[in-house]
Amino acid sequence: MRTITNLKIYMCGIFGYIGDSNASEMIVRGLKRLEYRGYDSWGIAVAAKHTLTVVKQVGPIGDVEKALTLPSSHAGLGHTRWATHGRVTQRNAHPHFSTDKSFALAQNGIVENYKELQKQLFQLGYTFHTETDTEVIVRLIEYEQTKTTSLLDAVKQAFKQLSGRNTIALITTEGEIIAARNGSPLVVGRNTKNGTLYISSDTLSFAPYVDGMYMVDNGQLIRATKSEVSCQDIQTGKSISMHYEHVSTRHSEVDKAGYEHYMLKEIHENPQVIAALLKQPAKEYERLAQAIKRARRVYAVGSGTAGIAAAQIAFYLREYAHIDAVGLVGADAKEYYDYFTPDDLIIAPSQSGETADVLEVIEHARIKKAVIASFVNMPGSMMSRLSDFAFMAQAGPEICVMSTKIFVSQIAWGYLLAKTVANKRTDALKQLEKLSHDMGDYLQKPETHKQLKEVARILVKKHDIFLMGKYQNLQIVREGMVKFIEGTYKHAHAIAAGDLKHYAITLMEKGVIVVTALSRDSVYSDMMNAMHEVKARGATVIGISADKEEGMDIHIPVPKEAETSAIMHVVPLQLLAYYMAKKLGNNIDRPRNIAKSVTVK
Ligand code: GLU
Repeated sequence: MRTITNLKIYMCGIFGYIGDSNASEMIVRGLKRLEYRGYDSWGIAVAAKHTLTVVKQVGPIGDVEKALTLPSSHAGLGHTRWATHGRVTQRNAHPHFSTDKSFALAQNGIVENYKELQKQLFQLGYTFHTETDTEVIVRLIEYEQTKTTSLLDAVKQAFKQLSGRNTIALITTEGEIIAARNGSPLVVGRNTKNGTLYISSDTLSFAPYVDGMYMVDNGQLIRATKSEVSCQDIQTGKSISMHYEHVSTRHSEVDKAGYEHYMLKEIHENPQVIAALLKQPAKEYERLAQAIKRARRVYAVGSGTAGIAAAQIAFYLREYAHIDAVGLVGADAKEYYDYFTPDDLIIAPSQSGETADVLEVIEHARIKKAVIASFVNMPGSMMSRLSDFAFMAQAGPEICVMSTKIFVSQIAWGYLLAKTVANKRTDALKQLEKLSHDMGDYLQKPETHKQLKEVARILVKKHDIFLMGKYQNLQIVREGMVKFIEGTYKHAHAIAAGDLKHYAITLMEKGVIVVTALSRDSVYSDMMNAMHEVKARGATVIGISADKEEGMDIHIPVPKEAETSAIMHVVPLQLLAYYMAKKLGNNIDRPRNIAKSVTVK
């Protein structure tokens, strides 16, 4: 088995600005929108009066005042760091100055050969002031500058010597920005009306201000000044024409639209993300359906919530399309690598399309020539680029670190896909349309929120929360568990109802609460039995279902759906997590210790 060592992608955000507004203010705004990528420190460099000024600080991009002490300027470069080499200190924060302060550089990635390069540079008399691998790039550029008068050429020469996946950006005293990509995303945004230019790690960070974006490819370099921006191939030096894509207005919607938290707003967008799927052209679905029918086996793979979505997508393929489909968790798929064949098909749902674990699986599957399909929400992602079938969720930005609407979008897509494979697309569209409509009504009703707030109040008092489900609702309660844990920092445990009597039943006693999701499906009587078994041991049952079933101590009524009932059940679970987190005073949109795009392995 070939091991891939270069598939590691690291978090951090890069945000460059050239325009008429005050650069530091624009960069603070941009970095805040990049916060979901994770951070531990930040820094901003601005160019004014032929001088670069840098501020750096440990912690989140909150201390705006400090940034605003920077001189007024029309060009700057910001960075949020997710430390890989060197402690989280002010000194190690980016951007890093060159010795003569003629440029400052920020990096996203790891210089895998930094030790060797550092050794060579030491021998050449260079000294280092930080503990980062990034500083090696700065010194290397300085060394290359001794051979050429062109900074651009020096950057190219230095960049070619770096191994690992690295994206770099530097700004000069004259406000020129040079950026090169080999790994993490890099996007150029342009406002043709006022000539403003943005160079960033994602589209989201500048979407409201631009009318076009250009996705920089691996091996490309961008040079931007106040008057022009150009792109070239780093190896050949050949210039590349930049085709700007229109930026979807959906990607501009990054405010809370009157909701107290992004999470609540995004839960309310669940019906819309389902509706968005209905508008997607049938042709792509049909094409993928044909490939699925030809496949020997389908592996659906994801991490975290997307891993649960992958399992549900596999369920829908098995159940509605009779396809041999299995769900895999990105980080634990290694033992399958040897078994991938050209006849296999991988399905990867991912919000960001940059999840390192899943990218590694895809890369291995590609070596084995398996077919790759992805369902991604972020335009221009690595995963889409690696896919034979690249579907977009078109769900608009999801800002809350806890995924809600994207999970719903992923499993609804899986259902639609499975039904397309089964030649029952029209039927699926009808079911999803009804679901979207009913879900909207459910979310609008004040009673929904009133009841869930009350239930949340009961649940937060518990030390442990149990959930139980089976068949189509098994992954749904697992996702409920994930949301409960992320929202409350408390222990939650999802039990497969069929497995209850094999172990978890030992925990059932008076005072224990079990949340179930139940559909009137082929496992209905099994679920009823499991419910009675926990009740017989004194546990209280909170049941999410269309009809109140015997044995439910508290019933959470939801609209009646046929094949899509499991998707409906996700919504009250998400709302319960939200109201619990709120009751506990937790940071709802950014739970502790986790980042949205886990782009580190
Ligand atoms: N390797 C660099 C560091 O640790 C950059 C990490 C990042 O991508 O933020 O400073």
